[in-house]
Amino acid sequence: MTESASSRPPDLWKPLTWKLHWQILLGLFLGVMSGWGLAFYAQSAASESNPAAKILAEHPLRQLVQTGGDMFLAALKMIVVPLVLSSIILSIASIAGRQGFARMGIRTLGFYAMTSLIAIVLGLFLVNTIRPGVSTTGKALLTAEGMDEFSKSFRAENEKLQKSAKMDSEKSGDTLFSKVLNVFKQLIPSNIFKSMVELDLLGIIVWAILFGFFLSRLPAEYLAIQKGFWEGIYRISLGMTDLVLKFAPIGVLMLLASSLSDNFVALSGDNRIREFGTALWYFAFTVVLALTIHMFGVMSVIMFVFAKVNPWKNLKAFSPALLTAFSTASSNATISVNLECAEKRAGVSNSIASFVIPLGATVNMNGTALYECVAALFVVQMFGVQLDIAQQFLVVLIALLTSVGVAGVPSASLVAILIILDSVSKQLGGSLDLAKGLPILLILDRPLDMCRTAVNVFGDACGAVYVARKEGETPLSGPIPE
Ligand code: ASP
Repeated sequence: MTESASSRPPDLWKPLTWKLHWQILLGLFLGVMSGWGLAFYAQSAASESNPAAKILAEHPLRQLVQTGGDMFLAALKMIVVPLVLSSIILSIASIAGRQGFARMGIRTLGFYAMTSLIAIVLGLFLVNTIRPGVSTTGKALLTAEGMDEFSKSFRAENEKLQKSAKMDSEKSGDTLFSKVLNVFKQLIPSNIFKSMVELDLLGIIVWAILFGFFLSRLPAEYLAIQKGFWEGIYRISLGMTDLVLKFAPIGVLMLLASSLSDNFVALSGDNRIREFGTALWYFAFTVVLALTIHMFGVMSVIMFVFAKVNPWKNLKAFSPALLTAFSTASSNATISVNLECAEKRAGVSNSIASFVIPLGATVNMNGTALYECVAALFVVQMFGVQLDIAQQFLVVLIALLTSVGVAGVPSASLVAILIILDSVSKQLGGSLDLAKGLPILLILDRPLDMCRTAVNVFGDACGAVYVARKEGETPLSGPIPE
């Protein structure tokens, strides 16, 4: 990736000469500060008739940063379809004829399944040890009386979520089995153009794998034309990614300033945060601790032992992708940056990175799987319920399966948590509707989403380096190009 720092030594007082990840980090810091500043201003100017949320929404600076942030997000997303299509088609076309094609697929999926399972079990262990939803008095924090109020706010939020996450739990029927089946239904796109319009990546990936496979079997004269066409699209998409990345520091700043200012204002006006304050902070602590141990501990050991790479160097190579994931809270929006990091900074070959990373962005969500488990059990604890081993195993299983179907967009995992809570309620006899506790999770969702998305994206990055190593490549062997 082209960085302004490449030819000159960095000057501390001239951020434009810094390396890209330092620039993004500065943007991130300034974004958090600006978000807090905007929220602080709105709160101090607020009155009975003019609430802080309204002041914030109408403030020209807030409108400006929102527009800038939305534009940056749109710029990242506009590259996704041509990039994913062309990269997977080319990757499959180049490896389809080779021996070991199936082996690579199995390695990739095996790595994803194992790391997700480890993440969930880690989350399960910590939520059972810290027990964030259990009060010191032993009384349930959520009661039947409080539940009705929750369900009112829950309905509106639920509709919004179902729309964004594309996992319509109502339409797909009532049983857990049909909900899980629904995830598999998404594998076959009935109309590839519809999938492209709706950014349905799972459908696009399956279509591209089949297309690339049959493309590789074309007679030479057609093969050259097809390959040239997709290669052209791929290179153009990478050029566009480079351009968008140049704006990443300012894009991240604006994105965070707008989303966090909303969040800060909402948090300070939310009575529930006062009511459940301690439990919520314990919950956030449990999630962040589990994600940190997974990302810096477990994944480092896995990368050192199985991929034989320096974990620190691995983290450094993917830092622009991690910071983009953290700022956007969207795996989909980070695909292009992650792909660039894998190829240009970590030295993973194009044919492997192009297959493993877009696939991972859709089916591999370590952070989300972990979060689903911790969040669902937190709600269960808040209702004062104790789950036995078999019931907890059910939570692990559903978290693993649903994390495959969760879309790589902000807040998508809340729908999966709903599925878990529904299923646990049924296991418990159906008299207690645990799903009514879901709004509690909305309070801190954005900051926790930022953290879990970074872990999701890192899992895909590690997958690419691991598979490259196992396929005989030497990723991360040279210095990281800046
Ligand atoms: N925001 C996450 C992602 O894009 C999904 C989620 O956990 O809500 O990876």
